[in-house]
Amino acid sequence: LEAQFLRVQRTESIGLLAGGVAHDINNVLLPIMASTELLEPMATSPETKQFLASIRSSAQHGAALVRQLLAFARGAVGQHTDVMLRPLLEDFVGFVNQTFPRSISVSLAPGEAPWAVRGDATQLKQVLMNLCINARDAMPEGGRITLHVTNTLVNEVEAARLREIKPGPHVVIEVADTGSGMSPAVLERIFDPFFTTKEVGKGTGLGLAAVRGIVKGHNGTIAVESWPGRGTNFKIYLPALTGAVKPAAAAPDARTRPGA
Ligand code: ADP
Repeated sequence: LEAQFLRVQRTESIGLLAGGVAHDINNVLLPIMASTELLEPMATSPETKQFLASIRSSAQHGAALVRQLLAFARGAVGQHTDVMLRPLLEDFVGFVNQTFPRSISVSLAPGEAPWAVRGDATQLKQVLMNLCINARDAMPEGGRITLHVTNTLVNEVEAARLREIKPGPHVVIEVADTGSGMSPAVLERIFDPFFTTKEVGKGTGLGLAAVRGIVKGHNGTIAVESWPGRGTNFKIYLPALTGAVKPAAAAPDARTRPGA
């Protein structure tokens, strides 16, 4: 328990630090991006054009990192409204199918209800995107990503096991892949900021730290199960908007197995 606490504390101080630095870095990157954009049409040789494009894309990459850092550092801040998850997920799955390689199929398991939560739609999409990017990277040979959304009534025992959430009706979003899976040693560290197993330039180690920050900012929690060589299953628990939860749908779903 103590090790867990220390880890959470360390993660939080890294978050604060990162949030402060991220702002300064953004102020450095913005004029670089703006200037290269202005210079590009003036470039007279193809080489110059190429160099400018490379400066701009590096600065853009840096800006994307900063966005993730900020999301992680201030996961609690967002524009919270009533969000219907079903249409959000349908849109999202359509978008991801367009942008991901053909060897990867992304699908949303069928279901009726809209599953409503209180939250920031943009942040929730970022969470799903980060999970899907990781799933894609774990399936270089192709595979399947399946999203499930269900309602579940978290009881006292489950809430204690999951930590961070209170008993009550929750919406669970599952993102399952048929990829490489993770060893227990990797699984231990995936939410640590800057932990990555990807090669330099590919991974930042901030994706899941941002995911965790955002989910926490939504009073939710995230659980993960992974089977080396077979795949991984992330489960995000978000408090359900009670007005939208039909009593019949609130019974625990058979598909919902306890997370790691
Ligand atoms: P990054 O993607 O930049 O490495 P993340 O924080 O998103 O940073 O992920 C940390 C690490 O967790 C990854 O480098 C990878 O080793 C592991 N990981 C995350 N999701 C998956 C997944 N779906 N399958 C296998 N490994 C994963």
